[in-house]
Amino acid sequence: HTELYATAVGEDTDHKGFLFVFRDRTEEERVDEMKNEFISIVSHELRTPLASVLGFIEILLHRELSKDKQMRYMNTIHKEALRLSNLINDFLDLQRMESGKQVYHFSPVNLVPMVQEVVDQWHSKEHQINIHHMSPELWVRGDVDRLRQVLHNLISNAIKYSPGADRVDVHVTSSEGKVSLSVQDYGLGIPEDAREQLFTKFFRVDNTDRRQIGGTGLGLAIVKEIVEGHYGTIGFQSEMGAGSTFTLELDEFELSSMDGKIVIFED
Ligand code: ADP
Repeated sequence: HTELYATAVGEDTDHKGFLFVFRDRTEEERVDEMKNEFISIVSHELRTPLASVLGFIEILLHRELSKDKQMRYMNTIHKEALRLSNLINDFLDLQRMESGKQVYHFSPVNLVPMVQEVVDQWHSKEHQINIHHMSPELWVRGDVDRLRQVLHNLISNAIKYSPGADRVDVHVTSSEGKVSLSVQDYGLGIPEDAREQLFTKFFRVDNTDRRQIGGTGLGLAIVKEIVEGHYGTIGFQSEMGAGSTFTLELDEFELSSMDGKIVIFED
């Protein structure tokens, strides 16, 4: 990311030389990229829900409508405004993480109750979410809010991309100093040619099966950023028509190392 300029300097033959200038363009380029990206999001992703919100408000303001119709339109406005708000939050989250401005508040986290809490917040009509854990305590060092966000995104995808299935399984296990958290669904699966790009922001699989399923293509990019911010790994296995399993792995935290000591975690 560094540019090099070289110019010949000096008038007389005895004092001729070259002047080399190194210029770091990283920051400038990054700002440019962000601007371009933002413009493309505003034009593609934000305009559509906004146009729909404005359209429905226009109708509500200028037409005599039955109570029933009014309610229906207001529900649509609410849904579209929520979509906009989620999109903006996800986009800003990701921007903060990518620019290294995300501050993680690390502390010991027992993943078992955390998983339970996140699962309890889900109210899926079709899916039962089952938790399997090999012990009641599996500790890692992490930022609990961000780890919740990871699990939330993975469960959200598992449910969204398995229409017709009735369950999602969450496993928490540990082995050889690593804790694994996996989310397994029995849904559409991920096509071979999409696998490399899956964690890239704004990437969405485009096929008829999932055209109706809403999303921004930011969820997995956020997951990857957070997991890497925790020095962990994330991967998946998938079979078309049979389902997908996303697994993240973090270093296990040895609670015994805290016995009798006051431990201060620094970011
Ligand atoms: P979004 O769901 O908003 O499109 P994500 O970044 O979460 O964005 O996911 C990117 C793409 O990966 C999705 O569009 C979807 O096609 C595919 N995908 C993610 N999770 C799953 C899953 N559990 N099963 C099948 N496909 C998935």
